[in-house]
Amino acid sequence: MMAGKAKRLSPVFVLVLAILCFVVGAAAGFLGAARDNYLSPVDEYAEIANHGRRGKVNAGGDVGGDLQIHFLELGNYYTGDCVYIKAGDTDVLIDAGSKSSSVPTISAYLDQYVTDNKLEYVIVTHAHEDHYAGFAAKNGIFDLYECEIIIDFAMTNKDPSKGMQKNYLAKRDAEVAAGATHYTAQDCVDTPDFVLADGITMKILDSYYYTHEDKHTENNYSVCMLLTEGENNYLFTGDLEEDGEQYLVEMNDLPEVVLYKAGHHGSKTSSSDALLSVIKPQIVCVCCCAGSSEYTPTEANKFPTQAFIDRVAPYTDQVFVTSLCESDDDKSFTSMNGNITVCSDGTRVWVVCSASDLILSETPWFEEKRTRPAAWQH
Ligand SMILES: [Zn+2]
Repeated sequence: MMAGKAKRLSPVFVLVLAILCFVVGAAAGFLGAARDNYLSPVDEYAEIANHGRRGKVNAGGDVGGDLQIHFLELGNYYTGDCVYIKAGDTDVLIDAGSKSSSVPTISAYLDQYVTDNKLEYVIVTHAHEDHYAGFAAKNGIFDLYECEIIIDFAMTNKDPSKGMQKNYLAKRDAEVAAGATHYTAQDCVDTPDFVLADGITMKILDSYYYTHEDKHTENNYSVCMLLTEGENNYLFTGDLEEDGEQYLVEMNDLPEVVLYKAGHHGSKTSSSDALLSVIKPQIVCVCCCAGSSEYTPTEANKFPTQAFIDRVAPYTDQVFVTSLCESDDDKSFTSMNGNITVCSDGTRVWVVCSASDLILSETPWFEEKRTRPAAWQH
């Protein structure tokens, strides 16, 4: 009898219950929507970029924003650099490696974005094939595009009358004869920053080896550049080596950076603590064919090296790599992240990858070939 009585709920109670259900449901829906918004690729990344929070970049959004920095795959097994920057309507190309055979891959990529066949700025960091082959090549970058301003290395150990250096100089000088302006990096050190677009500037940094010889390596002659949009900075140091980085820190007032192009393809001899402790990068992009034996048979020293990973790990786990070696025997390769694009709309920064969205520490290659540093422990 008591049970029967309990089943009869008063109409007022039912009404209150219904209102309560509606309110709770609506609130949950609202919170759900807000949460979805917050976790959109752009906003999640903004959190990381603005507050240095660690976490996975929710990559997979669209390429966009008024500043885009593209790290290109090169269409072959060989490690090399090619970075394309789109700042408003201004097109900047840094390097064109890894081989002369990379040019069709590079130009097919550029032609998606460069609609007027004109590169406003070309930077050639140093006289190594994996950086300047595409400029020295027949039907190379200088043949395919009108290049307005060419900024290249102030020093080299290469013989100007021989090989690729001879070809590079001939192609560059022909472009200058056709109307391009040429500066060495040293010419740009004390000049005002280049304005690429409204609020986006490019500074050629001062570097010891623009004016001092290094008989051991071309790498230290690398042109170094800082790109700035508002609070966000982006650093490119070519293949600068550890001692060159030490000078770079001493000779420039370097800021903390959102993005750092891993020096020298993630070599053990670059990305030193002296540099990293100043720039504290939030995103690191490595241009290389991960795990290939092109430069060394020693597993830990293949790009990106264990030493590089160990030094970068305390600052960020947002490390992206262009390509992956499949076999040294037949020189086959595949994409790791593929073409990597770091996009900015002035405050928010996000990463778009053409292949996998996995950060380096999540990749099967890392699991198999590298030791997880303490900072990247789960
Ligand atoms: Zn290189």
